[in-house]
Amino acid sequence: MLGPVILAASRSDRMRRLISAAPVTKQVVDRFIPGETVDDIVPIIKDLTGKGLELTMDVVGEDITTPEQSHAARDAYLALIDRLAVLDLGEQVEMSVKLSMFGQALEGGHELALANVRQVVVAAAAIGTTVTLDAEDHTTLDSMFAIHEELRKDFPQTGCVIQAYLFRTEADARRLAAAGSRVRLVKGAYKEPAEVAYQNKHEIDKAYVRILKILMEGEGYPMIGSHDPRLISIAQELAHRAGRKPDEYEFQMLYGIRGDEHLRLAAEGHRMRVYTAYGTDWYGYFMRRLAEKPANLRFFVRSMISK
Ligand code: FAD
Repeated sequence: MLGPVILAASRSDRMRRLISAAPVTKQVVDRFIPGETVDDIVPIIKDLTGKGLELTMDVVGEDITTPEQSHAARDAYLALIDRLAVLDLGEQVEMSVKLSMFGQALEGGHELALANVRQVVVAAAAIGTTVTLDAEDHTTLDSMFAIHEELRKDFPQTGCVIQAYLFRTEADARRLAAAGSRVRLVKGAYKEPAEVAYQNKHEIDKAYVRILKILMEGEGYPMIGSHDPRLISIAQELAHRAGRKPDEYEFQMLYGIRGDEHLRLAAEGHRMRVYTAYGTDWYGYFMRRLAEKPANLRFFVRSMISK
């Protein structure tokens, strides 16, 4: 019940101002967003990659309102890529981007986002790595898939995300499960209406399995974005049945969630990529993590009361 309320709050400016200014929030936020600057995040990149994990880096931010903020988003990713170049980690560290942080929703925003993300993709390719386009709410997806297709003409390794809760996703998966494509499948983290998305956890999980089957049996590279133990073992079984070797798919989880499982899967010889977010505009990302697990909200509220 709480999830949809928190997701609604994640889009409220008033709540954003309140929560962002709360005195104890930072300490709670750090669990999911372990740094604000590139300098903060480099030691974490070194630590996790040293443990055999792969990473996808997210500079937090979304729903910008001016073109200048789109250029700033591009520059933040370029600064990160400059530092990654020195670390020489190649595809062990890739980037995840949200197109709404690149101005996709502004007037002329599709072109603006494409132009600025393209520069990030070019810089990533120059250091031997790539970019994955995150999936946001369903109204943004046609534009996201069009940008994805455009980028893939020059950079076929550019990835994208699909969300199991949307009715449209089985068809998207069939289209995307082609040679050379990289597709992350997640359950979906936004508040979506019943006209476009399953609302029931059981139905979402069943859709996840159907779509994963399409990806595993296809010719692309599936990226399993989930912490759900049942789905992880089903993914292993489907990969085995499809005759895929361990380097022909990968698991992905979020920083701060089931860290022991990241290490366990990596130790078993799986590719395990940790989605690691950092930056100052953490509100939307943080609220989605609260919505996914009500216990997080209780912890958050307790920490405010005990202050
Ligand atoms: P759930 O059934 O929600 O969780 C399974 C178990 O994992 C829970 O029982 C709990 O133990 C643990 N868990 C899950 N979430 C939390 C949490 N927040 N805090 C603590 N424990 C938790 N969504 C999008 O809409 N677009 C994206 O681009 C996107 N990218 C993602 C990238 C990655 C790598 C991952 C892992 C998720 C991404 N998501 C994205 C979020 C996703 O849609 C889900 O909201 C999220 O992963 C929770 O679903 P689950 O599959 O882990 O299963």
